[in-house]
Formats: sequence, structure tokens, C-alpha cells
Amino acid sequence: THVVAEPCSGCKYTDCVVVCPVECFYEGEQMVYIHPEECIDCEACVPECPVEAIFHEDNLPEEWKSYLELNATKSEEC
Ligand code: SF4
Repeated sequence: THVVAEPCSGCKYTDCVVVCPVECFYEGEQMVYIHPEECIDCEACVPECPVEAIFHEDNLPEEWKSYLELNATKSEEC
């Protein structure tokens, strides 16, 4: 899955949301989240993010590892 990390917080430009072919983005109060079971890892959203907040889970920077779980739980709630 792909994961939305900290740089998205307070951004929400949603440029990523409109390009996602499976509509797996969910909008929270602070940021958007990707549903891990719906994401097909197509990478379309990655270059669209103006703040480079989206990573494949394997490339997620160490300091943002907690966002993997956060995306999973928050996308379920939205
Ligand atoms: Fe959607 Fe593709 Fe981004 Fe996954 S990688 S969130 S399927 S645009």
C-alpha cells in the first residue's frame, strides 16, 4: 500500500485524490488517508502531491512509520 505521511497535515490539496483510479483516499480533518486494502500501488498519486507526503510503505521514512497504522485506522473511520 501507499501511505500519506506528515507533510500532508494541514495541506489537503487533494491533487492526489482526483488521480487515484480506485478512489481509495479518505478525507480526515487534518489530512487525507489511503485505505491499505483498496490501494493498488499504481503510483499515480505520488508525483501529484505538492508536498511529497505519499510513500510506498517500504519507502516510508523512519520518523513517519506510525503513519502506516494511522492511514489504516483513519481510512476505516472516514
Ligand atoms: Fe490510489 Fe494509486 Fe495512490 Fe494507491 S498508489 S492511493 S491506488 S493513486
